[in-house]
Amino acid sequence: MHCVRGEAFIFGLHIDKTMSTPEHHRCLIIGSGPAGYTAAIYAARADMKPVLYQGQQPGGQLTETTEVDNFPGYPSGINGPQMMKDLEDQAKRFDTDVRYGWVTKVDFSGPVHKVWVGDNQETEIHADTVIISTGASAKWLGLESELRLRDLGGGVSACAVCDGFFYRNQEVVIVGAGDSACEEASYLAKLCTKVTMLVRRDEMRASKAMQHRVNSLPNIDVLYNTETLEVMGQEAVDGVKVKNNVTGAEHVIPATGFFVAIGHKPNTDVFKDFITLDSQGYIVHAHPGTSKTNVDGVFVSGDAADKVYRQAITAAGTGCMAALDAERYLADRGIH
Ligand code: NDP
Repeated sequence: MHCVRGEAFIFGLHIDKTMSTPEHHRCLIIGSGPAGYTAAIYAARADMKPVLYQGQQPGGQLTETTEVDNFPGYPSGINGPQMMKDLEDQAKRFDTDVRYGWVTKVDFSGPVHKVWVGDNQETEIHADTVIISTGASAKWLGLESELRLRDLGGGVSACAVCDGFFYRNQEVVIVGAGDSACEEASYLAKLCTKVTMLVRRDEMRASKAMQHRVNSLPNIDVLYNTETLEVMGQEAVDGVKVKNNVTGAEHVIPATGFFVAIGHKPNTDVFKDFITLDSQGYIVHAHPGTSKTNVDGVFVSGDAADKVYRQAITAAGTGCMAALDAERYLADRGIH
């Protein structure tokens, strides 16, 4: 089964240096994953004339996945980039103004929210409501071999639920020791003949229940005090070279897949002076059960505020909530 995660951050330029006064919009959506596009569909259908900035990775993390088999409504599955194109087309059908652009500065201190787009803040936009849908990005170890094979599509992945299917009846390695790593290792153990889990310390960070689950599965081998030195293989992974950081001993684990589950980084840095973030950088909901942030008129949807579910369908659901919350905010203030 291929699962999908939330959405992207914003990047690029939308330059109009001829503008003397900033554009003013009722609804500005930042980010173009399932959360952002769903917010756009709802906001556009409510006649809020949304402007959506797509960002660095238009379509978000879904554009990195192949088949999407778990989004309701696609009985035969769909590939990730096509699904994002469909979402974009649906948003445009209701006249969402979809733009390529990277938000580099915001000022949420007043009733009108100010956002600057472009590396040199070329474009200034004013908006009554802002919906943040900037998503989160997987963390990587940063090894040259890991990133090279990842970019080649050669067997390095940060999403076992997305890509585990390709490694059925094969041996894989997963790095990480948190709840995500345990969850993904357990998932892989159902598909693969052997899963080797690399834990850098002498204990896991994951909850006891998750550790118990991992330890109860006979085809998961946990190596403690173990670090990755190199992901081996030219075109595709064929092994992982590791080192025991206590004994110094090195060895190679045969594997065709290398999974990295060492956490995600929410794409929220640009908002940190105005929006309340938790210790990991995720946006905190001001009122649980809504999309409201601590700033009136600024809403959040998708992975930027979700470290638990991180699925396309949950991102889309919260995109809908954010648009409905923004619509009510405008209606309450008589902004048409
Ligand atoms: P965490 O930050 O909890 O864990 C990251 C893990 O990766 C840690 O064990 C860390 O090791 C390890 N790590 C980090 N960098 C490296 C590195 N360079 N080399 C090797 N290992 C490394 O992230 P998760 O994604 O697991 O979880 C994020 C949050 O989501 C947590 O709050 C978690 O509880 C929650 N969650 C809950 C789930 C559930 O309840 N079902 C499922 C998934 C996530 P170290 O411990 O040594 O720092």
